[in-house]
Amino acid sequence: MKVYLFCLLLMLTPGGVLGMEFDLMKKQGDVGNTLLVIGGIQGDEPGGFNAAALLATRYRIAKGTLWIVPNLNFASIIKRSRGIHGDMNRKFDFLSKSDPEYHLVEEIKTIITDPQVDLVLNLHDGSGFYRTSYVDRLHNPDRWGQSCIIDQSRLAGVPFGALAEIGQRVTQQANQGLIDPAHRFNLKNTRTRLEDPQMSQTLTFFAIENNKPAFGIEASKSFRTNVRVYYHLLFLEAYMKELGISFRRDFELSPQGVKQALNQDILVALNDHKIQLDISDIRAQLNYVPLKKGAKLEFDSDNPLVAVLPYRNKYRIHYGNNRMGFLRPQYFEYDDSLDSVRVTVDGLSREFEMGSIVSVEKSFLVDTPPGYRVNIIGFTRKGVRNEKGLRVRKKDIISRYSIDKGGKIFRVEVYRNDKFAGMLLIDFRAVQQKVKLLARTNLEDGHELKGFPAH
Ligand SMILES: [Zn+2]
Repeated sequence: MKVYLFCLLLMLTPGGVLGMEFDLMKKQGDVGNTLLVIGGIQGDEPGGFNAAALLATRYRIAKGTLWIVPNLNFASIIKRSRGIHGDMNRKFDFLSKSDPEYHLVEEIKTIITDPQVDLVLNLHDGSGFYRTSYVDRLHNPDRWGQSCIIDQSRLAGVPFGALAEIGQRVTQQANQGLIDPAHRFNLKNTRTRLEDPQMSQTLTFFAIENNKPAFGIEASKSFRTNVRVYYHLLFLEAYMKELGISFRRDFELSPQGVKQALNQDILVALNDHKIQLDISDIRAQLNYVPLKKGAKLEFDSDNPLVAVLPYRNKYRIHYGNNRMGFLRPQYFEYDDSLDSVRVTVDGLSREFEMGSIVSVEKSFLVDTPPGYRVNIIGFTRKGVRNEKGLRVRKKDIISRYSIDKGGKIFRVEVYRNDKFAGMLLIDFRAVQQKVKLLARTNLEDGHELKGFPAH
């Protein structure tokens, strides 16, 4: 586990490692209660873990504290499996030390029982629609979708121990946002202690046993991911209200707004940020990606659900359950002598850090100090080997060389002799941001991390 503190409302996340550990992301406002939100205990429930990731990346907290573990079972998320080592949500009473997930379960238990935590939410996607009496195959008491789950009606002697009351209140509040009355949520009390010994192996029951109020939220698997996420967020906001946590989010809470938030500006940086890709609309494969000879690929993202992992002789980019595309490498020595490049964008000249994604409307021109060579991928001019100092428009570049399926984002690579010095992307899509760049931040625990400048 790696712990990241959010300072200055920056979004921070891990890089490097295979990404199979989970993240604990802390967002702190003024003094107040602490809500722990856990997503991804099962790897095939994207509504829950995407909601947790949006909470971590797109919300600012003014009062109170959020602790978010958006990717508890990250290895299973990447593999699109409920659990590559069995169901993690049945490992919370007894677990053998030889279980491959033993340390993950121990770590999350430590977080759940932390004295600062006031209330715990475990986010799931469940089948069908929970109803208190049998309606049909999809709507009945054995279904889990569209329910708020408690293990017992109250937990004595702790704040927020009135589980049934709180559950009713947040369910009612979430039901104000239903897209269709048929989607309504109901409170489900599993009466774990008395009636359901199976459920005593779950994360929420472990929390209850340790005097931490805990709830499960289940969005229905009948819906597309963005709708599930929308419903989870209705609940998350209702719980924040319940705990007096005040927040702002930077997108509209609607199924469409959530869809956009999930699919925009998903950035990943490679190899010390010499390369940065917007993977939202990336092609199935990018060829001749200049990776570092003899070194392990390092990646970094502002999104805790992103990973870039070796796959045969390529790398595959993962985003939650989605497999975004492959990188086919060409290996180079790297040259570290150039931190930035001068680009004239639509007539205006400016210095851009390596890795920048530069929005351009009409034309651009890349300049470098003497000794460097510029290669605009998909652009050729007869007899010209170094493309520095040339004014280039979109129509001068062959669109199938773009990194995106839309044919609008192009690679500009800089070399010094035979060494790769870094890449910029030129983005011809509608201009919203002039430049996108994952920032770097050093945190207390010594990890070098990167954040995303405020939107
Ligand atoms: Zn589940």
